[in-house]
Amino acid sequence: MNRFRLIFQILCRFVSRIKNKLCGYPFLTPSFGSMTLDEDDLDVAGRWITNREGWYDDTVTRQYAIKFAEWNSSKYAYAFMGGRVALSAAIYALDLRPGDEIIVPGYTCIVVDNALLYDNLKPIYSDIELDTYGLDSSVIEDKITGKTRAILLQHLYGLVCRDYIEIMNLAQRHNLKVIEDCAHSTGAEYYGKKVGNLGDVAFYSNEQSKVFNTIQGGLVVTNNDAYGKRLKEFFDRAPYPDKEIIVKQLRSVGLNYYKYKHPQRWWIGELMELIYGDDHFETTSKEEAEGVKPAHYGCKMPSPVAALGICQLAKIDTYNEKRRTVAKQWEKWCRDNGYQNPLVVEGSVPVYLRYPVLVEPEKKRNHTWALKELGVDVGVWFTSNLHPSTKAVVGCPNADIAISRCINFPCL
Ligand SMILES: *Cc1c(COP(=O)(O)O)cnc(C)c1O
Repeated sequence: MNRFRLIFQILCRFVSRIKNKLCGYPFLTPSFGSMTLDEDDLDVAGRWITNREGWYDDTVTRQYAIKFAEWNSSKYAYAFMGGRVALSAAIYALDLRPGDEIIVPGYTCIVVDNALLYDNLKPIYSDIELDTYGLDSSVIEDKITGKTRAILLQHLYGLVCRDYIEIMNLAQRHNLKVIEDCAHSTGAEYYGKKVGNLGDVAFYSNEQSKVFNTIQGGLVVTNNDAYGKRLKEFFDRAPYPDKEIIVKQLRSVGLNYYKYKHPQRWWIGELMELIYGDDHFETTSKEEAEGVKPAHYGCKMPSPVAALGICQLAKIDTYNEKRRTVAKQWEKWCRDNGYQNPLVVEGSVPVYLRYPVLVEPEKKRNHTWALKELGVDVGVWFTSNLHPSTKAVVGCPNADIAISRCINFPCL
């Protein structure tokens, strides 16, 4: 981007912050991402960016995966450049073939849909429930055909999905594999077990808007030896990302830290942006959101990113505990204002990536009221069936309700 346009944008942001302050709104609101970045992450990024030795040696990447597997109580884990790539690894592990049908929620991220389509699988969208925004088990059976091979269930917003057990039972009855999308819910527990351990394969994300973050990254886990072996095959064959991508990613740690996390030094982030251009990391490009497979898709996680992952993993429990504390405030807000709390399934401990609430469509369309009344920017995930793409999915009435009415509050 052109530097003048950038300066203009930075100025606009500054003016709008001043304006907010003058109107009695907060100067800075909790950001949508990178809230788990601290000085120690900045140090790790700084050390690796200045020393390029060992970037393409997977020692640290393996360490990260082993630590994650241990922490998650899973037998095998492998780390990639994104939860979406981890999903591609899961597809490989389960040996899903072109033309196979896979049941997925009609309320998810486009990158999930993309991963299936890249492998020529056929996504069959099924409706969600509105208690936890997971798959509604009561309508899944209608979608099963002779070609159905798997169900992809999701634990959204940090909640454990309502029909977890029913879906597992249903899959067993129909001899279907289960992939768990734990991108929002790393660390959430169900009867003392972390989510992702009931299905056949699960994936997690440590992208910048998730509960822990290395700007971009993700993991896949399994407890099954045969799938573990195939995951290793996929990992061993996966290329490393280009050095420029790694540099961009490491630089974004500093940029995001100052811009979003450090309350007094937000201007350093703006300054860094000015120096480096807007050369920070973009998780999903416009083309990717339109279904185009990025040239660098499918990479394993390199050691500098894994080093950040290790640093983040050491803090994830503390941050998740903080999220649960903040969630209590939104729980009360819902009660006081006549809105339904999201369901905390019996036996579950959520991690509250965000606190989802169904509000009037008008309050989702125009959400400045939250800034005024509550001092926060509300999140609007998701605003379409396959967010942020506008690709239409039909026959998911509850998903349509969530699209028009579900907002989410920050929990850090
Ligand atoms: C973010 C997200 C993913 C993908 O994770 P990345 O690490 O961004 O690839 C998958 N599913 C859901 C529901 C997500 O929100």
